[in-house]
Parts: sequence; C-alpha cells; structure tokens
Amino acid sequence: MPIQQFPTSQFGSDSVNPADPAAPASPDVARAMAAFEAAKSVATAADGAPDANAAASAHECTCGANGVDPADAKRFAKQHKVDDQARGSSRRDAVQKRITRPVHFENASGSYDLEIPFTEIKLSDTPSFTLASGRTVPSKPNAPFYDYNTEGPQTDPKDGLPAIRLQWIADRGDTESYEGRARDLADDGRRAEQRGEASKEWRGAKRAPLRAATDPQTGETKHPVTQMWYARHGIVTPEMRYAAAREDCDVELVRSELAAGRAVMPLNINHPEAEPMIIGERFLTKLNANMGNSAVTSSIDEEVAKLRWATKWGADTVMDLSTGNDIHTTREWILRNSPVPIGTVPMYQALEKVQEDPSKLSWELFRDTVIEQCEQGVDYMTIHAGVLLRYVPLTANRVTGIVSRGGSIMAQWCLTHHRESFLYTHFDELCEIFQKYDVCFSLGDGLRPGSLADANDRAQYAELMTLAELTQRAWDHDVQVMIEGPGHVPFDTVRMNIEIEKALCKGAPFYTLGPLTTDAAPGYDHITSAIGATEIARYGTAMLCYVTPKEHLGLPNKDDVKTGVITYKIAAHAADIAKHHPGARRRDDEMSRARFEFRWDDQFNLSYDPDTALAYHDDTLPAGAAKTAHFCSMCGPKFCSMAISQNIRSEFGGATEQRRLADEVLGENAAGAGVGGMTWDADGAEDEASAGAGAGLGAGAGAGGVQRGVFRKVASPKSSR
Ligand code: SF4
Repeated sequence: MPIQQFPTSQFGSDSVNPADPAAPASPDVARAMAAFEAAKSVATAADGAPDANAAASAHECTCGANGVDPADAKRFAKQHKVDDQARGSSRRDAVQKRITRPVHFENASGSYDLEIPFTEIKLSDTPSFTLASGRTVPSKPNAPFYDYNTEGPQTDPKDGLPAIRLQWIADRGDTESYEGRARDLADDGRRAEQRGEASKEWRGAKRAPLRAATDPQTGETKHPVTQMWYARHGIVTPEMRYAAAREDCDVELVRSELAAGRAVMPLNINHPEAEPMIIGERFLTKLNANMGNSAVTSSIDEEVAKLRWATKWGADTVMDLSTGNDIHTTREWILRNSPVPIGTVPMYQALEKVQEDPSKLSWELFRDTVIEQCEQGVDYMTIHAGVLLRYVPLTANRVTGIVSRGGSIMAQWCLTHHRESFLYTHFDELCEIFQKYDVCFSLGDGLRPGSLADANDRAQYAELMTLAELTQRAWDHDVQVMIEGPGHVPFDTVRMNIEIEKALCKGAPFYTLGPLTTDAAPGYDHITSAIGATEIARYGTAMLCYVTPKEHLGLPNKDDVKTGVITYKIAAHAADIAKHHPGARRRDDEMSRARFEFRWDDQFNLSYDPDTALAYHDDTLPAGAAKTAHFCSMCGPKFCSMAISQNIRSEFGGATEQRRLADEVLGENAAGAGVGGMTWDADGAEDEASAGAGAGLGAGAGAGGVQRGVFRKVASPKSSR
C-alpha cells in the first residue's frame, strides 16, 4: 500500500478493529493497534522489499556478486534517506517563521519604531475528547509559541542586510566618518597579492568608516561611544531597548548591568546591520558558533552560507576564525550579511601578514590589523593579553602544553624576543582604539588547559588573575569586556571555575568553550563539552562557545555546524531552566502538552531541530495518519503509557474521582499516603474536564506551567501516634 493512501479512517473511527480478535475493549487502544499494524505494513510496502532483519533471521543469504549484502544495502539506503532529511532545514523553514513586533521608543536623541524579531511557531488545537460520562469536551485552540530569533532578514548575500542602526548612531551626534585605512592587498594574503585582487571583492553598499568624534582643538576623542559609556551616563539607547524587548525584561536591567560591566552588547558602530543583543548572567544564556576558512579548505561563499546556517539554528554570535586566503574580504562578506555580532582573533590575520612567523610580529603590525577590523565592523575581538612572559614556563610540564593558537603564538614571541607581550604592554592603547568603535574585549584564555591533566593549574589561574587586572583597566576606559574560559575541566571543578572567574573579574561576563569534561571521546566532543557547558552556564557563564563533533579532528562542515549549534542550544536552555530564568520553561511546557495530547506535528515544530525529529519519527511510521496516532513505534500501541494514562482519566475521572475510588478501597485519605507520607493534591484539576484524554495537561494550565498539583504533607500513622 503506498504511503499516501494510508487509511486515515482507522484513526477517526470509533469502531474496534474486527480483524484483530485480541483487540482490547478500549476503543482508543483498538484504534491505535489497528493503526500501528497498518503503518507497519505501509512501511514494508513502501520499502518494496522484505524486511532485512526478517531475511537475516531466516538464514536467507542474499550476498550479491559484489560482496554487498542487498539487505544491508537496502537498510543503509533507508538510513541515508533519514540522515539526509535530518541534515536539512525544510521543515524548520516551513514552520518556524521570523516575524517582527513593533516597539516604540524615544530618548533625547530621537523617536524610534523598533522592529523586534521573534520566531513564531503556530500550534494546532487540543483535540476534543469524550469522557466516560459521555460528555464531549470540545477542542481548544492553542496560541502560537514565540521564541528568540537570530536568523535576521533573509536578503540576497550580494546586497547584504539593511543597516538598521545607522540612523540611531547618527542621531547621537557623537561620531564622525573619515577616510579610513587604505586598502592593502596584504590584508587578503599572499595569493591576493599575486593575483592583484581578492578572489571575490565585496560589491555591495560601501560606507566610509565611523569613529568617535574628535575634538578639533585637541584631536582627542570627545568621549567613548560604547554602550557601557552610555549606560554609565544614564543614557538608554535604542540598542538597549531593542535588547530588553528580545529578552522580555525591563530596559533598566539592561542599562544597569551594562554600566556595572556584568553584561556586554558587542555592537561596533561600523556593523550597523547587527541586531542588538546582550550577554550577561542575568539574561538568556547565549551561544557562539565558530567558523572561518583555513589554508586548506573553504571559500567565501561557503563561509557566508555557514554564517546563515548557524544563525538559522540559533547562534547568537559568530566568530570568524579564518586563517586562509582572502581573510579581509571573507570578513567583509560576513559582516555585511550578519545579523549577529561578529568576533575575531586579530592575531590570526596578523600572523598571516608575517608569513606565519611569530617572531616577526610587532605591536605596530598588530595595531594596524586591529584598526582594519574595527573599521570593517568587528564587534568583539579575542585578545590574549594575559599570556605573560613569566607564565610561559608554567606550561612546560603540561601534558598538552599551550593549546590556544593565540596563546602559543604570544608565548613564542615572548620567549624569542625576551620581552613582555606587546598585547599586555600596549593594552591601554588597545582600549583607546576600542572605545572609538565600541569593540568589546574578549580577553582570551591563552593558557587554558587542553586536557583534564592540565586543568586548574598555576598557568590557568595566573593568567586569569591578569585578565582580572585587564578587565578593570578596560572598564576604566568604558570599554566592554568578556572573559574567555577553560577548555578541558573535570566536571566536579566546573562550578569552581565560574565562581573564581566571577569573584576575580567582578562579574564580567564569562564566555567559555564547553568546557569538555572528558578527553576520551573524539568524535563526540560536542557532547563531552555540552555536559560542562550546561553546568558552567547554570552557575553563571553568560555565553557558551559551541564545540562540534569535529573538535580535535578537523574543520567543521555544514552538518557539524548544525549539530554543534543545536547541542549548545540545548545546553544553554537547560542552564536557563536550572537558573529559573523567567519564562525559560515555556517551550518545554508547550512540548509536554503537545506530547501528551499526541499533537505530533506540534512536537516536531517546537523542537530545536524539527527536521531531525520528523525524520526519526517517520523512519518507522511515515504515514500522514500516524501524526495523530496515540503511540509511536518506541512502545507501540499496547504499551504506550501516555495513551494508557489518558484512558485511565477517560474511564475513571480526574484526581477527585480517582481519589474517591482509592479511598473506597483503602480507606479515607489512604491514596498515596504510603509514599513517604506525601500525597498528591490537585489544584483545580478536579473537574471532569481535566480527566479526559488530551486535557490532563492542557486544560486550565497557564503559559507558565504544566504542573497541575502540589504535594501536601499528610500525617503518617506513626507520627500521628
Ligand atoms: S515513546 Fe511515548 S508516545 Fe511513543 S509509544 Fe511510548 S509512551 Fe507512547
């Protein structure tokens, strides 16, 4: 039977399947069983071949001349189809729609109609059901679910995104445009110099760079143009209002956290395409996705595609870590197409400019590279200024030495020149540059442990103490700061790491890579690190840097980016729930309601990855009618506990009815009294409506919670004596 001709009537009919003599009395279970059998036959018919396992058990050797077992080949082909579907985004694109909501805002600079982006997920109705009493409870509409959106408006990459902040910045009247640094083909590497051009120059809109206005008399910057400076001067900017609307919080929380340095908004004035967002412990946990070409792989088009792919799945920021060809031009394409803040490690490009010889690096060359990137619009930069000459020997006996690229480059420079790091000695000059563009420091953990054996050693903490000192120096310039965190840390010391960071760095946002909690699972380091990431975010890390399955093994591809982002969405979300962040559990509650009511499409659509959820479900039950079935292939119709649970409510009523029945058998108040002296007391769930299938979670439950009752203490027979 073709899949599309699946007999949906089997799910809609009230009749018991007459073909199944073992069908139980319950019509729901009978319908479910019939549907399950039919779905199995559909799946087999769709295959067009005997089930591979059945063939194997019958000892029917079907090896072909080419040595490939046809049954295996069939099974692999089917699995590939599922995997291909799971890699895509067609379902996600169809059901998770970007919308914007208007928010009006005024301050002394102007009046603004902000358009705040959200993801809208429409939900189907809770189905109607009939109670044992015969009363039918009608279906109930469910309001759409709204989530944080990071994907930006989808424009032609050749044109780039609209510059939404350009007018906001101009209205403040404290910036000036200027000619900027001259274009140098060396910025794109040796091949561009040989060709005489970058491989794919940006031909979209070009703007002269902006910087903080200078005093014509002194030539000094009038004042920093950082969000921190505005916040400290009591100025609420449109950027702050925008971020508050996304977070659904009071804008004063945004302003005060920025002023205190406990939160950052990485928003270079030369990246007006960025949609304002905030990173801090008091806000939703954010995640960063790394990308960028290397000397051996990737192109500009691929990097732009990866950016769009990562933000589609929820990356809150993206770091362009390109080390290959066309670094400057790749970054230009990325910035002009990025709705999220872009971070870089300018040391990588500086090293390219000296033909990968760290000994040739200099402050002057590094400063020039930083200004180049400031003028392009990079929002935050990793600066490994905490790797001091005297700390380098502390790593000599480590199992894995220095695993940070930036850290190892600076360590080599310090030892080669017998001098202190120019990043440290020129740090105040860096602050003066950053305050002109509102570039945020991401103070790099250049001496982070690269293995559990090296975790929590003197080198790691010596560097962290220097980062704390540098944090205060940056704040003295009104420059925003994040602190990067450890890479590999045993699980039991994860919490200690965040608490030490917060204490030393006075609450500056922590931005951690994982951390990985075991070194033993290459190929699964997105998981080893998400375990640590959840724990460290629970205790206050503000932004997580994702890890992909390719960590330690190779440059991630598009599939790895998706896996990494989804994995870290889960880690960040789990941490937000554990932190009791307001509203963090709404998505879970909507999912739970949909799950109990067998609204399968809503379950797929609410998932962080609808395509994989749908593909996995349809692997065994592909028919359209299975999307309303009261079971899936995991337990099957006879053992679907949620269907049984619904049937219990249909047949025996809600909490009041069930307790009365139990009391009749066991005596007054006996129901549940034997469970540690606690009994279940439903709050408002005692009417008939709550008793039926599909209504147990949905009826009357507010947006905030699924939980319908509270445990109340009852006197145990022993204590009452
Ligand atoms: S996994 Fe859940 S929905 Fe699927 S059969 Fe089991 S209880 Fe039912």
